[in-house]
Amino acid sequence: MTLRSDGLAGKVAVVTGASSGIGAATALALAAQGASVVLVARREDRLQDLARQVQSSGGHAEVVVADLADEAQARLTVERAVSAFGRVDILVNNAGLMLLGPVTGADTTDWRRMIDVNLLGLMYTTHAALPHMRTQGGGHIVNISSVSGRGASPTSAGYSASKWGVGGFSEGLRQEVRLDRIRVTVIEPGVVATELTDHITHQDTKVAYEGRIQTMIPLEAEDIAAAVVYAVTQPERVNVNEILIRPLDQG
Ligand code: NDP
Repeated sequence: MTLRSDGLAGKVAVVTGASSGIGAATALALAAQGASVVLVARREDRLQDLARQVQSSGGHAEVVVADLADEAQARLTVERAVSAFGRVDILVNNAGLMLLGPVTGADTTDWRRMIDVNLLGLMYTTHAALPHMRTQGGGHIVNISSVSGRGASPTSAGYSASKWGVGGFSEGLRQEVRLDRIRVTVIEPGVVATELTDHITHQDTKVAYEGRIQTMIPLEAEDIAAAVVYAVTQPERVNVNEILIRPLDQG
């Protein structure tokens, strides 16, 4: 159950990858705190359903259908937020793909897709949001990385490369924009029960990874949404730099 609060009343939050999993849960959690939410992804039907859910609870939601691998579409998500609600206070860069598989013999299309969405998409939306946040006198960028953004293992090299990139970008950004009162938070989930594994193209890896999930009680998307809410509802003097969350069962 999500408890309603007005801690984010008047704030506008853009959530990428809001059509499922962590992004959908985060959008609902931010809306429950009073934020107006801009829901970004490619699957419009899912976004419209979520928008109706937010609106039926008395919240405000705007749907933006965009492929974040495309710079123009990624930038437009921020502009649509500003034209719908007048500002952008929180940007949750969550959209992503985890196309696990060995480096040897890899389909390099998988690498490009991950770098394009997980890393470049996040950089494009951030680049588009910063001028608005500076003009407003502050803002908060929340980047969803992964435990694979801190470590790596066989079959995670391509995914880890994209998520380590998120960590490096976020740390440099944090140091640059703090004087503009813009906060930067990186969230690094372990295994979360979502649709993420559905898209793995390397079948042996997919089967092995799904088998691994069966050995544990994974996190729920709402667990990560709660971490986002924690970070963005701290007093403005507090910059939560990094949150690493694993299921208790994950070694
Ligand atoms: P889901 O597959 O449920 O969600 C991924 C979201 O990203 C979807 O809303 C999808 O929407 C969106 N997306 C993918 N490609 C694009 C694109 N080109 N343009 C726009 N949106 C896109 O997985 P999760 O909720 O688990 O993943 C969310 C984030 O969490 C990812 O960055 C992932 O790496 C990270 N993460 C997840 C973990 C897990 O175990 N689940 C662990 C660690 C990190 P659509 O297809 O409609 O475009």
